[in-house]
Amino acid sequence: MFFIPYAFVHTYWRSEPPVLSRDIDLMSDPRVIAGMAFGTGTDADVAASTSLGSLDGLLFSDCGSRGIYPWVLPVGVRNRDRKLPGQQYCPHCLAADERPYLRKRWRLAVASVCLEHQRMLLDRCNGCASPLMPFRSRALHVCWACNTDLREAATEPAHPHAVRFNQMAQDALRSGWGSLGPSTFHYSPVMFSVLRQLGRTIISGPRSQALRTVLSGLSNVSDRPFVFVGGRGEVEFLSADERHRMHAMITALVDDWPHTYLACMSAAGMWHSWALRDMPNVPHALRTVVDAGLRPRTYSPPVEEVVEAARYIARRGNGVSGRQLRRLIGDSIHHREAVARVLAPPLVPALEPAEAVPLSQD
Ligand SMILES: [Zn+2]
Ligand SMILES: [Zn+2]
Repeated sequence: MFFIPYAFVHTYWRSEPPVLSRDIDLMSDPRVIAGMAFGTGTDADVAASTSLGSLDGLLFSDCGSRGIYPWVLPVGVRNRDRKLPGQQYCPHCLAADERPYLRKRWRLAVASVCLEHQRMLLDRCNGCASPLMPFRSRALHVCWACNTDLREAATEPAHPHAVRFNQMAQDALRSGWGSLGPSTFHYSPVMFSVLRQLGRTIISGPRSQALRTVLSGLSNVSDRPFVFVGGRGEVEFLSADERHRMHAMITALVDDWPHTYLACMSAAGMWHSWALRDMPNVPHALRTVVDAGLRPRTYSPPVEEVVEAARYIARRGNGVSGRQLRRLIGDSIHHREAVARVLAPPLVPALEPAEAVPLSQD
């Protein structure tokens, strides 16, 4: 018997817990799993393995309770709408399926390439650019909004560096371990946490533009600033093609680990505390590399670097204080001056913009 999704939800879950008003893939509530297993005649373990919660201990660890899932794409659920392009797909895979289905991997921010077809994944309808909402579609391979057949979408070839990143992530998710150069990670979430921090260093924060410029030369991808969807400057809030570019850059950074990493970070003027920025639990493998190879904690940065850090904090919108500066870059004799320079009004009023002068066309 076939159900449309709404009827299935109503029949097997009623409204408790309210599945369609949340990210259903992330729900590992035993009642939801049991309802799904019973309703579809599936073994309970198989049903549980389709949830993204099954990646606890492989991709992330211990974060479900706080509702934060590193490297999982948010779908931006609002009521029963999905506002963010967190459901990726490969049209060629869907076209090859006897009954098209969405792969679990397509919800992950470590995936930007179909390894089978070596093409970039898509994350929106090719007809109307809507994020996918499969529970609203008349079939999984059809856009809910405009009825475009997603199997007919054109794709771009994948960048070789991005393919390597996707393959490395896929291998680690399958085996539960991974390695960067001589560092072996016996628990793959630790490696994913290091990779995520490298991604964060590339896409935002002080000196990230300088780092991108260095990496652009090594990976042959653009060094333009990253554009985020959904307003948060994190790796999970990049579109599929922006993440593809980040994956290519991360691969360049981990090549010959940790030598290329240290060389690029130093060339970009990125120092110790910025490399570990906002990281609550720094993995030992990263801490050792950064401690040994980047400017040490006792280093006292020149005033311009402190001002740059203060500007970075101010841009995040919660004011700027000496305490925040200390947290970001450690002790410095320049904190007071940097805060004053960032908070002080400009000495001369901003000039009116110059009148536009039409340019000659020849
Ligand atoms: Zn494919
Ligand atoms: Zn559409």
